[in-house]
Amino acid sequence: MAKQLSLLDFQTWFPDEDSCYRLLLDRRWPNGFVCPKCGTQNATRMTSRAYTFACKDCGAQTSATAGTIMHRTRLPLRAWFCAAHLMTTHSNGMSARQMAGQIGISYPAAWLLEQKLRRAMIDPERAPLDGVIEIDQTEMPFHDLEEPGKPLKEGKILVIGAVEVRDRTTGKAQKPRALGAKYLDTLSGRCRMAVIPSNEKPNIHAFIQANIAPGATLVSDGHASYTGLAGYRHDPRVIGNMAAHIPLRWIHRVFALLKRWGLGTYHGFRREHIDSYLNEFVFRYNRRHYRHVSFETILGLSTDHAPMSYWDIIKRGNPRKNEPVNRKSPRRRKTQDGDQIDGTGPRKRVKPPQTGGDGST
Ligand SMILES: [Zn+2]
Repeated sequence: MAKQLSLLDFQTWFPDEDSCYRLLLDRRWPNGFVCPKCGTQNATRMTSRAYTFACKDCGAQTSATAGTIMHRTRLPLRAWFCAAHLMTTHSNGMSARQMAGQIGISYPAAWLLEQKLRRAMIDPERAPLDGVIEIDQTEMPFHDLEEPGKPLKEGKILVIGAVEVRDRTTGKAQKPRALGAKYLDTLSGRCRMAVIPSNEKPNIHAFIQANIAPGATLVSDGHASYTGLAGYRHDPRVIGNMAAHIPLRWIHRVFALLKRWGLGTYHGFRREHIDSYLNEFVFRYNRRHYRHVSFETILGLSTDHAPMSYWDIIKRGNPRKNEPVNRKSPRRRKTQDGDQIDGTGPRKRVKPPQTGGDGST
């Protein structure tokens, strides 16, 4: 189990922007900066732009955050690192309202920051679920933005979920048994979830193919849409009058946790962003036994995540795209010495005057 990074460790390791920047450089270019355009290592760090390299061969300027989820951020790197630290150490996550207060940024900035971190939580190369899998669907309650203040609706957001069944004694994947046989003394393994537009076969089959390894045994409630998919072993359970959580114990527990988490931490999900909440839930669930994952994972430093803009996230076009820019004040940019007006060149470093005494307080 990885040791949890305490708040004090965090503050010691990342006291300033530079320490965050060094970690970023080390993870992205462990053998020294490589120009992404021409592939040479012949570059210098710019003084007029913060955390940016200029290639001596092709002239390309590359920021340390370019191409990561922190691409073009206006927030300090410390705000990102701190948010990722809070999201990983708080076992239930944190609402944007709480995050805003914790880091001292506005609510919209905190909301966007969290959305970006949630998107980095999926490992694109994760292995599909395997072995014996319980699979089922549920409906999620959601907030209706048209009628804020109204109680949560039992919406028609249909969520499909699958969870691996493991053997309790060995902790390893459960060996498939005869069709209809009971699986006793089990644990749950990893899970996956997705929103589907309807219960029809194409949606369900697509989810299975995207998330479950061929050859796996699918234990379901016998819904007609599961059948007819070649390459999997179907083990339908007729639920009848029995409570559904008896034959499909683990997936029902996962759904119950999802609903409780949504109400507890976020006071209900919002329909538009349900995918990112599901990502976060699956990320936490699959790491529940080693909860304190490195915040580097969630910053996307261990895997590649293409940057997303606010407009990508809310799935709308930027209405000001291609419009001439009408600036009220000169454009500023981050440099090593703090913000400065664009085009004015590097500011001279001024040494603070030496004062008497040992400076201790
Ligand atoms: Zn270059």
